[in-house]
Amino acid sequence: MSAPGTKEMICISCPISCRMTVYEENDSIVVKGNKCGRGKVYGEEEYLAPKRMVTCTVATDSEEFPRLPVRTTASIPKETIDDLLQELYSLNIRLPVKRGSPLIENYHDTGVDVIATMTLPGRA
Ligand code: SF4
Repeated sequence: MSAPGTKEMICISCPISCRMTVYEENDSIVVKGNKCGRGKVYGEEEYLAPKRMVTCTVATDSEEFPRLPVRTTASIPKETIDDLLQELYSLNIRLPVKRGSPLIENYHDTGVDVIATMTLPGRA
């Protein structure tokens, strides 16, 4: 039986997908099952403050291209994702937009932007 607070997780830092067990012991985080240091970093971060990349689409002013795919430039804290999605769903982007253009910069001082992942033309 695992100790209270123990989390089982799969490292998503590479395709090997190590199964890891993460728990606290003597005021430090113990990561087991990782095959490399990246897994230890991922396990500690996932245990203490899980983060995720966000991808979705936002509305545009175009009838021809009504949705623009977007993504965050890095992972953001899981607890901020719902607020970010609400903000993204309220947007209506005026086309044209170039791939990589920032739609939201430095979201809530996280240093993370939301960018367009596709170039869409404006009205002809
Ligand atoms: S622990 Fe290392 S080897 Fe295992 S999935 Fe993560 S990055 Fe890959």
